[in-house]
Amino acid sequence: MTDPAEAVWPPPSPRRLPGRARRRTDVLREYEKFNAERRRRILPVLWPFFSPDPDQYFRWRVQLDCTCITELMTPGDQTPPSERQWHAPGDGEALPPGQLCCRHDDDGHAPYRKIAAWRDRREIAFPADPVEPPEWVDADVWALIRHDEPHTSAFWKATLDCGHVEDVVAPALEWKPDDGLRLVDTARVKEMTEEWERLCASDPTLQSEREREHTRRMLAAGWPMPRPEQLCYTCPHARRIVAYQRGGWLVPRGLKPQPESQVQPSRVTLERRLHRVEAEAEHLRVQLAERDEG
Ligand SMILES: [Zn+2]
Ligand SMILES: [Zn+2]
Repeated sequence: MTDPAEAVWPPPSPRRLPGRARRRTDVLREYEKFNAERRRRILPVLWPFFSPDPDQYFRWRVQLDCTCITELMTPGDQTPPSERQWHAPGDGEALPPGQLCCRHDDDGHAPYRKIAAWRDRREIAFPADPVEPPEWVDADVWALIRHDEPHTSAFWKATLDCGHVEDVVAPALEWKPDDGLRLVDTARVKEMTEEWERLCASDPTLQSEREREHTRRMLAAGWPMPRPEQLCYTCPHARRIVAYQRGGWLVPRGLKPQPESQVQPSRVTLERRLHRVEAEAEHLRVQLAERDEG
């Protein structure tokens, strides 16, 4: 996991990495298929910017700090992948330069990170909640938190101090970051804190260590809304690129990119096609011979 509190990392170095790159023709075929699909939704005048020809791309192999090795492509061969920004999977937000997501079964829980900057806002409309409580809550609590009318909430994208981006629900539809955090009055926070301390003492398993520390910090800060620290769901899977190896152009210089149908078939494909043609020829020879005899 990347940690904003950790020391400055040594710069990633070019080096020979174990294993081999994927076959260039396979990668090219995949890119062309993907790009043809993408171009159906993009005006041709914008293709150079949003869906470039394959001859623009340079291939790299990179090693991450989880030791996994993966392949990346960059427009041009000048800037190494460790100095570029990559996106979280599934059209996710841009990660800090030189990071990639790589999920492992033993990735830790999401940590709390402080909000460093507010970005854009959007509204989401929700239907009324069902009357029946969902599984995760009992009926009394549900009666208190249930929305019996359709409602709209505002969400702000916030950059956390780890450089990752999370959605934060606003305390009110009209709230904006310049309004500042809303605090609960001091006397009420004191009451809440005493009540919460009593609850924790009577049931030490009430909250996980992480949640208990978060609640303590928020009570000490006056129970601010929105919370100035948020869970970062990217941190557990974000890895740094620690080394890279140059892999060559996706379309070797001097070779014109060939459309999909003209890409050179593999030896196995050609052999299979030859066997089929030979079998067909043999079949025709037998038919001819039978006809002559008949
Ligand atoms: Zn990994
Ligand atoms: Zn993070």
